[in-house]
Amino acid sequence: MGIIRNLVTNLTVIRRTSNQHIKIMSRRLHASRTDGVEKNVWVEFTQLAADYKAVNLGQGFPDFSPPKFVQEAFCNALNGGPLMHQYTRAFGHPPLVKSLAKFFSSIVGHEIDPFEDILVTVGAYQALFSAFQAVIEEGDEVIIVEPFFDCYQPMVKMAGGKAVYVPLRPKAEGGAVLSSGDWVLSPEELASKFTPRTKAIVINTPNNPLGKVYKTEELQMIADLCIKHDVLCISDEVYEWLTYDGAKHVKIASLPGMWERTITVGSAGKTFSATGWKVGWAISSAQIIKHMKIIHQNSIYHCATAAQEAVARGFEREYELFGSPESYFQQLPAMLQHKRKRLASCLESVGLRPVMPEGGYFMIADISSVKVDYKDQSSEGEPNDFRFVKWLTKEKGLATIPVSAFYSPEHSKEFDKYIRFCFVKEDSTLDAAEDILKKWSQGQ
Ligand code: PMP
Ligand code: GLN
Repeated sequence: MGIIRNLVTNLTVIRRTSNQHIKIMSRRLHASRTDGVEKNVWVEFTQLAADYKAVNLGQGFPDFSPPKFVQEAFCNALNGGPLMHQYTRAFGHPPLVKSLAKFFSSIVGHEIDPFEDILVTVGAYQALFSAFQAVIEEGDEVIIVEPFFDCYQPMVKMAGGKAVYVPLRPKAEGGAVLSSGDWVLSPEELASKFTPRTKAIVINTPNNPLGKVYKTEELQMIADLCIKHDVLCISDEVYEWLTYDGAKHVKIASLPGMWERTITVGSAGKTFSATGWKVGWAISSAQIIKHMKIIHQNSIYHCATAAQEAVARGFEREYELFGSPESYFQQLPAMLQHKRKRLASCLESVGLRPVMPEGGYFMIADISSVKVDYKDQSSEGEPNDFRFVKWLTKEKGLATIPVSAFYSPEHSKEFDKYIRFCFVKEDSTLDAAEDILKKWSQGQ
């Protein structure tokens, strides 16, 4: 009772008004690590799409089912006896870490130890979070290549680090369709970002939202800087199987001297079109994984057993079929290749200028030549692309994502003329989007 009384006297309850939070403690309630990172583009725009029942080319998830073989594997796991419903090994279900090690060893050119060099996580998100928590010290600098998957910045901040940004820039403007390959890093600009405080660089290939697939020479340039400055590389490769028109995904961990200093992040959600399963992984040297395991064992501890079992079966199948037309890693990009072309021509027909992605499942498009008044009062003060996306969702019923959300505040203004479309969607969804865009271009 005494404890409760004390607690009650320490609480100051103030009535909630529409724009005022309830004050529940006489001292500050929250930790400062949550300051400045309150906004989240997925939370905001996924809700907006739902509110307006819009055709959703916004959030990146397939609106079709995962392939039959992994669905069946999941069902078999669920029916596979009591242990499939209980905890498994904390750092990864043994069948899954073994199949990941077998699958990726030859690709990365290093004999991956399933129990030492891999951590299975709750999606790529948790692999990234554990990586930053495990290696970033208060005051460390982390170089982030822009555009970047938005969670890198808050994760660096929450680990006590300082994000330092370097943008990919379009080499040549003009022409009907620019390719994501035309967006490049300036080697001099990148080199200038490395300081004695730099602990890590984060890259994402194929890139979300741009679709850039880094060429070996580009990765080598980054690798040389990492080695020269003794810096780690966190390489987010969740879209590794999705490349188009002959672009080839290369793992930076496979370059000489990089295995030891790279944390490669992957996602079963993207690999097997099952984003809701939330199975991901980090692969790195045992010395790094050891510290990520400490974060994991004291936060998440463990990921869903049946989902891990199903992903293990998926990788075993893909190992057997690797490189053959039956492989899902061939079939998914082949299917998306067509959707990507179709979306690009549809966007062009309404005056949006798409940047053709070499990989991933997103396409960005330049909105600057669109002649429409999208700047209504409700979005006043927001960046142009946020205003455009809101207008398109509310007025035309088509949901997309503003690209400046993938930039730091210092560079976002330069890139707020782009919006992102997701094309990993059923043909019927793309038909509906095309219909909206056509009607719009005809002034309806
Ligand atoms: N990295 C990138 C580049 C992403 O686009 C996403 C979103 N899928 C993630 C990481 C997070 O992946 P997951 O859903 O497996 O947590
Ligand atoms: N990765 C997905 C995207 O880029 C969505 C991530 C999320 O919804 N948090 O669209």
